[in-house]
Amino acid sequence: MYKSFLIKYGEIAIKGKNRYLFEEALVSRIKYALREAEGEFRVRRLQGRIYVDALGEYDYDEVMDALSHVFGIVGICPVVLTEDKGFEALSQDVIDYMDRVYPDKNITFKVNARRARKNYPMNSMELNAALGEKILEAFPEIKVDVHQPDVLLCVEIREEINIYSLEVKGAGGMPVGTNGRAMLLLSGGIDSPVAGYMIAKRGVEVDAVYFHAPPYTSERAKQKVVDLAKIVAKYSGPIRLHVVNFTDIQLYIYEKCPHEELTIIMRRYMMKIAEYFARKNHCLGLITGESIGQVASQTMQSLAATNAVCTLPVYRPLIGFDKNEIIEISEKIGAYDTSILPFEDCCTIFVAKHPVTKPNIQVIEKSELKLSEKIEELVKTAIETTEVITAE
Ligand code: ATP
Ligand code: MG
Repeated sequence: MYKSFLIKYGEIAIKGKNRYLFEEALVSRIKYALREAEGEFRVRRLQGRIYVDALGEYDYDEVMDALSHVFGIVGICPVVLTEDKGFEALSQDVIDYMDRVYPDKNITFKVNARRARKNYPMNSMELNAALGEKILEAFPEIKVDVHQPDVLLCVEIREEINIYSLEVKGAGGMPVGTNGRAMLLLSGGIDSPVAGYMIAKRGVEVDAVYFHAPPYTSERAKQKVVDLAKIVAKYSGPIRLHVVNFTDIQLYIYEKCPHEELTIIMRRYMMKIAEYFARKNHCLGLITGESIGQVASQTMQSLAATNAVCTLPVYRPLIGFDKNEIIEISEKIGAYDTSILPFEDCCTIFVAKHPVTKPNIQVIEKSELKLSEKIEELVKTAIETTEVITAE
């Protein structure tokens, strides 16, 4: 029955002069998301509002699903738009609306009229009372409750008249594309896809790096990461996933350095390579799924040792989260079932029995001296042989 959706956006409405840019970005993200839904749509801005109009047949659930992935949207209201043909026509439209949306009339309601166009002959209070009365006349079982109504029926007199009462919660945040770009270190685990999602939610475009170690990690493990990138991309837009072959670097570190320092040293090389691709892709920061104390490589000392090789800011949106809180978001965004598939990731193969939990940066740097120039060669080769896959 709905031909249009009214898009409510919160935070971006307060951006003053930048508001225009934010709205443009939101419109373009909405158009992009709607590619997932069958049918033709028009997205338009009108008087500080955004509307999605279906131009023919479409699937309601598909549209809702597509729109629920767009950051910057606070609420999605399926809306009936009518022309102003006088009060009698309006009350008939409102009665039809209530009849169709609420087949069971054993409900309470309240009319919330707004007159954005001051030349309309009735004011909001008069409209509330008059429309309320018409509804009561049409449906004897229905009751008014001005405090806690089951249905808050919004009737807005604008260029077109907007009639709506349903609001589906949106993803919140800010439209992607309004806050630069960052490079996500994406592994096959639970945390990093959630970290990417959270930074994208603040309007940041995301690219990603995955370090794999064939034959120690399988093609299926890589496919899992591609699948996770696709899940994040439903929210963030296309992700250029850099798949770096890390095997030789890992084996060389394994050969030369103390095994208990392996994870930290590997992590430092991952960060360096990620930073190389970040700069190449005009990213303003790196993103990881780290959380303080979660594992040996994420103690405060370990994070400091890893961080020391980076010159770009490293964003760690999960830093203060417990695992169960991360899992909750992972489930919400539809990544969890993929994340828990049991494929080895490149770090689990080389983990030491007793990794250092309080690495000292000077000690680590000294161990790295054993790597000589050969490591630079290996890094160069890893960069040159990196495969870039667009996940969308
Ligand atoms: P995740 O669930 O995200 O894999 P984790 O709990 O397994 O995290 P670690 O393995 O210590 O934690 O990894 C910490 C962070 O380092 C990850 O969140 C990710 O950002 C990055 N990382 C780890 N391994 C890789 C990898 N193979 N490729 C890319 N990034 C990685
Ligand atoms: Mg991991």
